[in-house]
Amino acid sequence: MTDPRRHLPSVARLLALPDVVRLLAESPRNLVIAAIRDLVGAARQGAHRDPDFDWPAEITARVLDRRAPSLFPVINATGVVLHTNLGRAPLAPEALEAALRIGRGYSNLELDVATGARGSRLDHCSSLLAETCGAEDGIAVNNAAGALVLALNAIAAGREVIISRGELVEIGGSFRIPDILEKSGAILREIGTTNRTHAGDYQTALSERTGAILVVHRSNFAMSGFVTSPAIDELGRLATTAGVPLLHDVGSGLLADLSPFGLTGEPRIHDATPHADLVLFSGDKLLGGPQAGCIVGRRRVVAPLRKNPYARALRADKMTLAALEATLALYRDPAQALAAIPVLRMLTTPAATLAARAAALRERLGEHFAASLEPGQSAVGGGSFPEAPLPTTLVSLDPGARGAHSLALSLRLGPPSVLVRIEGGRLLIDPRTVAVDEEDALVGAFASAAAG
Ligand SMILES: *Cc1c(COP(=O)(O)O)cnc(C)c1O
Repeated sequence: MTDPRRHLPSVARLLALPDVVRLLAESPRNLVIAAIRDLVGAARQGAHRDPDFDWPAEITARVLDRRAPSLFPVINATGVVLHTNLGRAPLAPEALEAALRIGRGYSNLELDVATGARGSRLDHCSSLLAETCGAEDGIAVNNAAGALVLALNAIAAGREVIISRGELVEIGGSFRIPDILEKSGAILREIGTTNRTHAGDYQTALSERTGAILVVHRSNFAMSGFVTSPAIDELGRLATTAGVPLLHDVGSGLLADLSPFGLTGEPRIHDATPHADLVLFSGDKLLGGPQAGCIVGRRRVVAPLRKNPYARALRADKMTLAALEATLALYRDPAQALAAIPVLRMLTTPAATLAARAAALRERLGEHFAASLEPGQSAVGGGSFPEAPLPTTLVSLDPGARGAHSLALSLRLGPPSVLVRIEGGRLLIDPRTVAVDEEDALVGAFASAAAG
């Protein structure tokens, strides 16, 4: 028997095949050659010995696979509004336009046009952050975890930071408050107990070694029962009397008033700024902007942060700053913010609208799968409002013989890639997090999955 490996085609011969020549017209030559070398290499190891092996088709598939971007859009039908795995907050059109306008050319990112001298990128969102948050000053860096490291390092490196044991929390993948504190160079001074910490505990811990008092919002869980901690205004008075800065990491960056929509319990930035010297929050959670870490507060406390080396190491990109500025500007008109910022719009969509959209989707999806409607709950996600009720109407779909996990896998792979919830062997689709202009693509994805 002859060894089929003897008859392996040469790279040159494969490059001359008509289908491969056509492929070369639209794909970089290096990419095509790399794909051919991979396939020939695999054949040499004994793979695809079939004499009918379709070289042009396999080369084309491999090239297209490598050309596909690693990062692609996903339709979020899970109903989790701030889905960390799916990029948290979708941006408002105004924010996207700003990022495009600034990203496509040069800008005054670090130029003071009045003097021609070097400016600071930290100045760009400053006045708008201060104005919208009711603070004296503000800066934005790469993300909120970074903002906390920066603030603690600039204010309390080598000194004690007093924090309640009930707030030594883990916010998510490798973000634990005690670790962040240690990395910042500050010394952890824990007080109180998991469930109860009193103003007196803070008072007793104060000493000449104190660098700051830190309050961290327990973003992703709620404690109830025999629980107490001093209100932020009381801590503010205590810190002022002691002459110690008070830092409040509120996490989510809620600027809008969502209480008319039944969403309460999440601290608003406005509630913290009158009492804390620095308030820290994420740009891409409830604020609904790009990934960023915002710090607002008293001018003399923000000032040392600007000169700290972490501000340079954690600086935000120009497109981020452009998108953040445009997002913040929308908050000048609260009604406009609710309408234009996708996160706020999704959280405040009326139940009747969701029910009507679910009914229309059930009708269309019913052509491919047995589907029904059921009442359910969406989730805010991103560690915000962990207990908020967010009633919705779900389309509940029977995946048939193939099973829920197999159908969900096809949907994830796409294209388009669709994420659903799986519960009790059924697929659940929540219209809350599906944009209206994504509905056709969503239905198309189910049609393909049904056919495949
Ligand atoms: C989410 C969160 C952070 C981290 O924010 P990132 O922008 O993801 O870095 C920090 N603190 C609290 C309380 C949070 O909820």
